[in-house]
Amino acid sequence: MKTQDFIALEEQYGAHNYHPLDVVIERAEGVWVYDVEGNRYLDCLSSYSAVNQGHVHPRILQAMLEQAKKVTLTSRAFRNDQLPLFYKELSEFSGYEMSIPMNSGAEAVETAIKLARKWAYRVKGVPRYQAEIITVSGNFHGRTTTIISFSTEPLYKEDFGPFTPGFVTVPYGDADALERAITPNTAAVSVEPIQGEAGVVMPPAGYLKRVSEICKRYNVLFIADEIQTGLCRTGKRFAFQHEDVRPDMVVIGKALSGGFYPVSAVLADRPIMGLFQPGEHGSTFGGNPLAAAIGRAALAVLRDEKLDERSAELGAYFLEQLQEIPSRHIKEVRGKGLFIGVELKPEAGGARRFCVELQKRGILAKETHEHVIRLAPPLVIDKETIDWALPRIREVLQMN
Ligand SMILES: *Cc1c(COP(=O)(O)O)cnc(C)c1O
Repeated sequence: MKTQDFIALEEQYGAHNYHPLDVVIERAEGVWVYDVEGNRYLDCLSSYSAVNQGHVHPRILQAMLEQAKKVTLTSRAFRNDQLPLFYKELSEFSGYEMSIPMNSGAEAVETAIKLARKWAYRVKGVPRYQAEIITVSGNFHGRTTTIISFSTEPLYKEDFGPFTPGFVTVPYGDADALERAITPNTAAVSVEPIQGEAGVVMPPAGYLKRVSEICKRYNVLFIADEIQTGLCRTGKRFAFQHEDVRPDMVVIGKALSGGFYPVSAVLADRPIMGLFQPGEHGSTFGGNPLAAAIGRAALAVLRDEKLDERSAELGAYFLEQLQEIPSRHIKEVRGKGLFIGVELKPEAGGARRFCVELQKRGILAKETHEHVIRLAPPLVIDKETIDWALPRIREVLQMN
């Protein structure tokens, strides 16, 4: 079967909830993916930062295969010998005392919301069911009915109401607006340190620091959604470390499995995470031994290959080189580590056509919203490969 045959099947039998580039991938290794026609591409999306460790990392693959032969699912009705080690290693990696494992990112966000609400009622003393959570414009936290309730993107929510109450939205990057929105019933503030899906949108310097101070002053929990920015993507283990803050809860997912399997988690210290009692929350697959073994290997790769430092160094180089490209289409090139957005001017005709041209030259990137090309290759990329990509990106950005 050829590319067009696969596309035809997918269009006929699958829901049309995505608009993918017309490339049908059949295998991948490291930073490279290969399509069914035998073409090779540099992956500059990294499955939305789920494959920070590179595609099919041998060490994670090995851990997965070994565990798959032993036991894959016990349910949490029984204990397994992988989860305790995953907990411990996650705490050592993150500096948080405890965690709760889930599967998808959205599930972990839902978990953080539940925990913040319980904290508000049991610890802060908010009257029952009056808790409010402050969110910011342009947020992306997932696709569940509760999470889309506080999305500001019409495409994500229109036709999908009624919505879950209890959320307030303020402009991203505006700490004063956030402070004004706080009431005695505010349980938590939830932000992405850098907004990935909004188009690699970076808040003004000092924003996270102020959010953290405001949260402390008003006894409000600071939740950082690091599902995309965390696990070394921005040049540190967590993006909040760029401003030297420590959120009360951190949500991670994506690269927590290196792309092998859905693994997510919420991190917090004991006074918060300890609030969950048996039966109050759970997941059939969350914390299963296969997921835990994969998560352990994925963390070990991030740590042992120092992918935070690698992202910082190579990201700085890539960003600087991109910023030097003369192009009448570019409005701004921004980013941290290997998490880079090239924002095009509105008159450039949208980022999609540039991504199609990149594909023809062997680079896979995805337009993010209308006007941003996100460049976020696996963190195992090397300088030679960036130097291979740069002239191709330059050529595309300089087309008419
Ligand atoms: C991808 C993402 C999510 C949702 O994760 P899923 O695994 O797709 O449910 C939530 N928040 C952020 C910041 C993300 O990038």
